[in-house]
Amino acid sequence: MKANAYGIGASEAAKVLHGAGTRDFFVAHWSEVAAVAAKVPSSQISVLHGLLSPDEAAYCRAIGVRPVINSLRQAKLWLDAGGGACDLMVDTGINRLGLPLADIGNPLIAALEIDILLSHLASADEVESPQNEQQLERFVSACGAVSARRRSFANSAGIALGSRYQFDLTRPGIALYGGVPNPAMAEHIAQVAYLEAALIQTRELSAGDKVGYNALFTADRSMRVGVVSVGYADGFLRSWTGRGALQHGEARLPLLGRVSMDMVVVDMTQAPRLVEGDWVSVPYNLPEAALASGLSQYELLTVLGQRFSRI
Ligand SMILES: *Cc1c(COP(=O)(O)O)cnc(C)c1O
Repeated sequence: MKANAYGIGASEAAKVLHGAGTRDFFVAHWSEVAAVAAKVPSSQISVLHGLLSPDEAAYCRAIGVRPVINSLRQAKLWLDAGGGACDLMVDTGINRLGLPLADIGNPLIAALEIDILLSHLASADEVESPQNEQQLERFVSACGAVSARRRSFANSAGIALGSRYQFDLTRPGIALYGGVPNPAMAEHIAQVAYLEAALIQTRELSAGDKVGYNALFTADRSMRVGVVSVGYADGFLRSWTGRGALQHGEARLPLLGRVSMDMVVVDMTQAPRLVEGDWVSVPYNLPEAALASGLSQYELLTVLGQRFSRI
């Protein structure tokens, strides 16, 4: 659920996922708890970044959310605050967050009341990477060394690595929101985010007229163009400049010139009947949009701005 459910809207996503049977919800930051807790019992929420201060430990105990403990320092903070159910992240090779395996025998860890023991894969989207098996081996050995109620290893791409990677619960993120981390999963994943924006002006260009900041586009003929109300402040980044097209039904409306903060200009040749006030779509099939924009499927969702109404 982190990053506002990858830009989708955390409260809406929490409600739908809870209704569909999801029972464990992970956020990254404390600031992300409230939106999820509005729809889900707080005992089903974990905070991946864990604890930085005694205040955070006290807050966590007060609302009944579980911290994910990532270091001996975090374990001590939690125990000093009175402890209780928590999760434990161990590092098996990504060298990002997580307790080093060398610390796993520390008495502070033995004193924790661990619900979920978890670890995170670095290269799950590379099926052939030997790092996957290496991390799996280390995780299995951590499972033997720590007592926990449940174990969790695979993110979206990890699920496709097979049942040995799945343990008691998986932690899909991107795949819930229409991302396809492994082509083998494509037939099971549907697009979730459909973007639309309003056509706010149309105009006629003559040959030689230029469009947008720095005049990156010059018309070579008379043409009708449209100004559409979506720009980089909405997450439609300048990396789309000159590379994509908006769409209306079957009609393709190529982007002309530079993406601005609040608008883009498109070629309306294929949609002669569209008028101001009509809506056009921003094609957001994530694997295809990633190829067109040079952004990752994750970035495409998480950059979406706050001016979209999320319906
Ligand atoms: C973000 C994250 C996930 C989800 O990853 P996806 O690749 O989006 O499925 C799972 N576990 C942890 C610890 C994460 O930080």
